[in-house]
Amino acid sequence: MKLILLGPPGAGKGTQAKILNEGLKIPHISTGDMLREEVKNQTELGKEVKKIMDSGALVPDNLINKVIEDRLGRDDTKKGFILDGFPRTEAQAITLDEILKKNSSGGIDLVLYFDATLKIIIERLSGRLVCRNCGVNFHKKNVPPKKDMICDFCNGQLYQRDDDKEDTVKNRIKVYEEKISPLIDYYQKQNKVRKINADLSANEAYDILMKLFKKENLS
Ligand code: AMP
Repeated sequence: MKLILLGPPGAGKGTQAKILNEGLKIPHISTGDMLREEVKNQTELGKEVKKIMDSGALVPDNLINKVIEDRLGRDDTKKGFILDGFPRTEAQAITLDEILKKNSSGGIDLVLYFDATLKIIIERLSGRLVCRNCGVNFHKKNVPPKKDMICDFCNGQLYQRDDDKEDTVKNRIKVYEEKISPLIDYYQKQNKVRKINADLSANEAYDILMKLFKKENLS
């Protein structure tokens, strides 16, 4: 199954992608996670994108398209994948279709559009904590770790992402809103978009997804 998860930062895409990854046994490909890894390892790409990411702006298409093309060329994507954070612009969506065509791997099955209200997004992002080791998300209030700032699953250190701070969050939402309509239109024309109420809890959203896959004969 080839899925794209679309939606504003804080809509719960990453959380659902991680659960789906375990259930469907197809890789969760988060371009944000991949870029953060490059920054952490201080690679050439990481050095180039750090400032852009810290400001909440988008990394140029030529850089991100190369990252995704390399990733989709790997064998583990043959049975499908869950894309989280890519594409973010119509131009990236067109590139993605070209890559899939080149890889002869068939088109995208569904685009899950996580629609969340602004108040909830800001509340989620400002409290989000991420494990430095395994990448699982917690929330200071809604999903607190059992031990302060320690991951329940791997004992890794939790941290707040630099771009989850208030000013950057506002810019990320602005950037998202500028780009999302043409992207939704692009996939709407292919009748692939299914809207998910992302204000719901992670468990409720997951149940909705399972029912949707059944209805679409994808489970
Ligand atoms: P995310 O973790 O998806 O919120 O991404 C964090 C940051 O990585 C974004 O604010 C962008 O700076 C960069 N980024 C991730 N994916 C993309 C993409 N598809 N296009 C451009 N920039 C991206």
